[in-house]
Amino acid sequence: MTHPLYDTNNIFAKILRSEIPCKMLDECDYTLTFHDINPQAPIHVLIISKGAYIDMDDFAQNASSEEQAAFLVAIGNAAKLTGASENGYRLITNIGGFGHQEVPHLHAHILGGEPIGPMRAR
Ligand code: AMP
Repeated sequence: MTHPLYDTNNIFAKILRSEIPCKMLDECDYTLTFHDINPQAPIHVLIISKGAYIDMDDFAQNASSEEQAAFLVAIGNAAKLTGASENGYRLITNIGGFGHQEVPHLHAHILGGEPIGPMRAR
């Protein structure tokens, strides 16, 4: 069941409905991978679920095993396809207000292509 707070008008839901374009890298039955519109590193791609999940908490609790497995596989594929896996990368999924999540649809960021630097909370 879709989370009652899921916003069907978020920007990634619109991408999934082909209402707005994206620079697609990869796709499967359960996921879509595309380039971030405002890249923070030479490689910056987003892996999103095709299912309507708000964030990783919602996805972990409510997605099927198939969806969860496909999401992990898609992350691995994106790292390979972009070349990020050659030298390492940062994998991030922001959750909620304190996590500074801007788009309320599950997504993971892959950042790479250069040293990403130390992690800073703020
Ligand atoms: P987050 O803060 O984790 O929710 O990250 C949302 C990300 O989505 C940001 O890095 C944005 O640059 C990116 N973004 C927003 N709109 C689009 C879009 N239309 N196509 C691709 N990436 C987008």
